[in-house]
Amino acid sequence: PISSFSAAVETTCPYCGVGCGMTVQTREAGLEGMSEIKVSGSRRHPANYGKLCVKGAAAGETIGFDGRMLHPQIDGRIVGWETALSDVANNFKRIIEEHGPDAVAFYVSGQFLTEDYYVANKLIKGFIGTANIDTNSRLCMASAVAGYKRAFGADTVPCSYEDLEQADLITLVGSNAAWAHPIVYQRIAAAKKARPTMKIVVIDPRRTATCDLADLHLPIRPGCDAALFNGLLAYLSNNEAIDQDYIARHTEGFEAALETAQLGQGDLQQLARDCDVEVDALQTWLDWATQTPKMVTLYSQGVNQSTSGVDKSNAIINCHLATGRIGKVGAGPFSITGQPNAMGGREVGGLANQLAAHMDFNRPEDIERVERFWQAPNMARQNGLKAVDMFQAVADGRIKAIWIMNTNPVASMPDADAVKRALQACDYVVVQDCMQHTDTTAVAKVLLPAATWGETDGAVTNSDRTISIQRRFMAGPENTRPDWWILSQVAERMGWGAAFNYRSAVDIFREHARLSGFENDGARDFDISAFSNITEAEYQQFEPVQWPVNAKAPQGTPRMFTDGRFYTPSGKAQLIAIEPRGPQNRESLETPYVFNTGRVRDQWHTMTRTAKTPKLMAHKDEPYLVMHPDDAQAVGVASGELVLAQNDLGRYVGRVEISDGQRKGDVFAPIHWTSQHASEARVDALIPANVDPISGQPELKHARVSLKPF
Ligand code: SF4
Repeated sequence: PISSFSAAVETTCPYCGVGCGMTVQTREAGLEGMSEIKVSGSRRHPANYGKLCVKGAAAGETIGFDGRMLHPQIDGRIVGWETALSDVANNFKRIIEEHGPDAVAFYVSGQFLTEDYYVANKLIKGFIGTANIDTNSRLCMASAVAGYKRAFGADTVPCSYEDLEQADLITLVGSNAAWAHPIVYQRIAAAKKARPTMKIVVIDPRRTATCDLADLHLPIRPGCDAALFNGLLAYLSNNEAIDQDYIARHTEGFEAALETAQLGQGDLQQLARDCDVEVDALQTWLDWATQTPKMVTLYSQGVNQSTSGVDKSNAIINCHLATGRIGKVGAGPFSITGQPNAMGGREVGGLANQLAAHMDFNRPEDIERVERFWQAPNMARQNGLKAVDMFQAVADGRIKAIWIMNTNPVASMPDADAVKRALQACDYVVVQDCMQHTDTTAVAKVLLPAATWGETDGAVTNSDRTISIQRRFMAGPENTRPDWWILSQVAERMGWGAAFNYRSAVDIFREHARLSGFENDGARDFDISAFSNITEAEYQQFEPVQWPVNAKAPQGTPRMFTDGRFYTPSGKAQLIAIEPRGPQNRESLETPYVFNTGRVRDQWHTMTRTAKTPKLMAHKDEPYLVMHPDDAQAVGVASGELVLAQNDLGRYVGRVEISDGQRKGDVFAPIHWTSQHASEARVDALIPANVDPISGQPELKHARVSLKPF
């Protein structure tokens, strides 16, 4: 007999950083007793108000247990939890005793829930005694974070999604929101339909699906975003669009930033040549930006994944600060996160160069404050290794034990084959994941089966600072466990049980909230101390809310910096003088094509979940390479044939797609396929490990390759 559906559970989508709310119902069904899952958009959630994209709507179809990691394993043998946890604790202790705490590392994930992130950070930074914890958010958000910190003194996204609907001009830079953030795109599309005078501009080397909505597309030469926004700053100044009063009262550094921008800009023709766009189109965008106070600049991986990603983001922010277009309705520089909890991880210090609750290693008083709160016996005192450096240290033998949680670096790190070799040679590799077979589980000594979406509770924070809860609505495989539980159990076996005695996610969330308000005299008023005494019942009823949430803003904060006060020592925002730098990989005769990478509309990360349903695979069912018609002709391939892209790091084979929306000389390949799906389709095997000098974020969108028929 088929039972009726359960009561509805409010949760949050496991995929992108839009962070849509979902309503889920389940019922036992079918011969195997698997749960049938009914998913719909939550009408109560302010990110999506009832809507879901194709990927979110199919979440219920991707939840079966096939492919799941079902047991702890050591060297391929199934073992019990006690054996596995003791093995991890004993080997980490042994290596720390022999080589010191910097010989171990954690590499975690923007898929982590905030509570998982918090416990991992506390264990390694406060108890093990090293800040060698980094996350795959390094590949996604690190440049935007560093840009905000340079400008505002804190990693603080100023805007709300509502600002996109209120703006009169939205400039999307390096963002194919139609595919990567579909509900945000749909909100913009609905706003434009209701108010057709609203202008949409897309700045992207490719003509993407997002351009369908655009009044103007500037197909710039890859990597010249900073030059373009320097040009805008100079143009704003030349056309008296600068807000002198705002600059005087709320900013520093304007003169130097403008002087540098003017030096680089030359005239309009020169800027157009530098960026390889038509003068008239450039002039149109500059005029719209000059004349439109309600302007949002929405930017994503095309800005961040660059060796000058921080400079690009500051060049964007400069234009908003110079015009006072920030902290106001419908205005601001808005970086949109890739992963569902990239921001929640940052709130608890999920990067190697952060402390919890937005505190920093470069302020001794912050280190001491966190140390006191945690009563930490071995507090880390300096930044740890960022992702690329971390895996280099594994390769060098400086890191001898690494614990990788919920991410697949052998597929997703630049120079991915070097990462694989490093892990194969490493003394002790632990991989905690919900899936048994990934490129990274294949090189692990110890495997720990994690619970996943729908099987455990925890908080996530989306791109506009909205905190909401992913809720448990079904039982996972018997031997899987929440990530925070696994970390806490290892901490107990390393001798720190009292500090990690958590019974449920709310215990951790409450501690995180208390730390955000601990010894906080109001200078760090981006805390969530309103939740310092949250109960289990309140946590279960938690309604989405934008941080900060504190005595000053008990209902949350839709918009930051409304009072023009920033988190720098002077309280003023900083404009940064930007000297644009191009991509690090230069053209060569052997590798003449620019190799750009990005997402497919209906896939997520390495497809462990989204590949399970034919509905999502129908959109793009195999690796492909998009080429300009002239390049296809020059290489001698036709649409539908196979083409080989290669360089001295790796090879990629994809089905040719020909598009005149692709710039001549540039090709595009999707990021999702791994060794589980195809033999030569890991794009990151071709990406050199070049990083931004400030953020450490790799240049994942600009390798150089040769092409030939396959
Ligand atoms: Fe999920 Fe993102 Fe789609 Fe929303 S837009 S349903 S968060 S994948």
